[in-house]
Formats: sequence, C-alpha cells, structure tokens
Amino acid sequence: MAKRKQKIIPSAAIPPEEGRTLTIDGREYLELNDAMHTFYRRTMGELSPFFLALRNEKKVLGAKCSVCGIVRVPPMAERCPDCDFAAVEKVEVADTGVMLSTPPITYFANSLFMEQVPFARGRVILEGADTALSINLYTTTGILVPGIFKRGTKIKLVFRDKRVGRITDVYGVPASELTKEQLAKEGLQEKDIDWEATVEPKLPAPSAKAKSAFEKAAAQMKDIVADLNSCERAKKDIAGWKRTILVKTPGGNFVISIDDGALSFKKGGTTKQDFVMVAKNPTTILNGLAYKGSLTEAIMKADLWISKNVEFMTVFKLERMARSLARSRK
Ligand SMILES: [Zn+2]
Repeated sequence: MAKRKQKIIPSAAIPPEEGRTLTIDGREYLELNDAMHTFYRRTMGELSPFFLALRNEKKVLGAKCSVCGIVRVPPMAERCPDCDFAAVEKVEVADTGVMLSTPPITYFANSLFMEQVPFARGRVILEGADTALSINLYTTTGILVPGIFKRGTKIKLVFRDKRVGRITDVYGVPASELTKEQLAKEGLQEKDIDWEATVEPKLPAPSAKAKSAFEKAAAQMKDIVADLNSCERAKKDIAGWKRTILVKTPGGNFVISIDDGALSFKKGGTTKQDFVMVAKNPTTILNGLAYKGSLTEAIMKADLWISKNVEFMTVFKLERMARSLARSRK
C-alpha cells in the first residue's frame, strides 16, 4: 500500500476538540480550543540553488565574492555588501566543519518540533566557508546530553534519507563518533550510520543493598502502573503508541510495556525491547511516573540513559501520563 503523504501540520500538533472553564474574579468563563489555518506557497527565491543542491545533490553551496573572496554560507547575497556590490559566484563547501559556539539543547518543544527533540541548534563554520550555518545537531550515541557539542567540536553533516529542500534536510553529528569511511564519504546519509550501535553505560555488580532497593521499587512500581491504568486521561496519553522498554538498574531489570492505552510492568528481562533505559537508581523511574520527579531532568543529569534519541518522545508520553494522573486527582 502506498504510504500516505505527510502533512504540513502533523496530527500530533492538532489539539483535541475540548474546552475548559476559567474562573476570573469569581466569574466563570468558557474557553474552547479553536483553529485558524492559513496555507500559502513560499518561494525560496534566490536561495533556491542552495536548497536544490541540498535536496538533489547532497551538496552545500556558498557564495564567493569576486573581490574580497569571502565565502558566505548559505549564499544569502547575490552581491557582496562589503565590496561595492561586486559579483559573487556559487561555490561548493565541505560537509565538515567546527562549532562556532556551544549550542543550546532543546528538550521541551511545541508540538511542531516534538518529533525532533532533544536536539541542539548551533552555528557551524564549514571548511571553505567564512560564515556560520545554523543547523540541528544530534549524537549517534543515544540521547543528546550537555557536553557532547562544544565550541570547536568537529562536525560532519548527515543528509536525511528523505529530503524536501529545507535546512532540516541536514544535521550535524560529532566527527569523533564516525568511522574514517563515514567521515570521508561525500553526502553521508542517515542510512549509512548504525544508530543502534550505542554504548550502554556500565552498571556496578548487583549488591545486596541494590537488590533490596530494586525489590522495594518494583513493588511500588506495580501500584503506580495500576493507578495510571485506571486514569482515562493518562491512558489517552499513550493511545496509539506501542513500545517495549527494557529498564536496567543496579539491583535488577524490569520491562515497561506501552500497548495502545495500556501500561504494564514486570520484573525481569526481554529480548523484544524497542529501546533500553539504564537508571543508576530505580527510584528515578518511580518518581518520574509518580510525578515526584522529572525523567527529562534525570536524562539531562545523566542519571538516566536511553539508547535511542528518537525515543525521547516515549519518555515525554510517560511524563505526560504522570501529569495527567496528578491533575485528575486535584
Ligand atoms: Zn567582497
């Protein structure tokens, strides 16, 4: 069957038809979700060659001034503003470069960017360019945390397998995470990288103390999962979502399964996991699900590791369940 075309507005970004009552100065006001759409066609104008080269040839173009020789990437000027509007020529620059500064990381995004988080956004000076290009940055080693990208970090551009002619057709990864062959390859694509070959953080050998902490946490976990499952609002947060998560902790492993509105928990392992979580302490997960702590914050502090960056979406859904349950109890 042919895959349905992706929409400009992803369905995750469309709010449900619902309303709420606000009480202001003792009076009640009804507020409803509504929508106003404006669609339009936007030309990329003089930047068209840049985006066409990105999409069709997996190349990055710049504009070189015929007088001062400055290479601007992207080629935003047809004439050099520093040289009495001297002519510029299109030149290709390398797909490797260095970070101009330490990029900030976005963990919480609005629904339009939700599928991209967590990502860093920063400016890279590509070899052969004199100006910096603003791009998204990811790691191939699991979830993106502070410290991976810094000022001066060497970057290689990766081209998405499906390109549409936007700047998000490319993103940067640290050159140090790639093989020599990958680094040398022109127009390196997502499919050329093994995103599964992440290095799991090592846990200490299970001590008696860790084992008893695990048993205690597992008992509480059972209760929390039962509570979440009895909350309609929380169940909605995982509607249509299916994931098996293998969670490793120093005192033992457990499995959290999300199955289209139903959450389940069991002690032990699995080989059918979609991704792995490693928690230094089982209470990190417990607190996250009980709305007493934040899983996202634990990831940022490296107390919690997940094997696939894209599965941050699943973490986000678990946190939303916790919030829904807490709200329904108010
Ligand atoms: Zn010039």
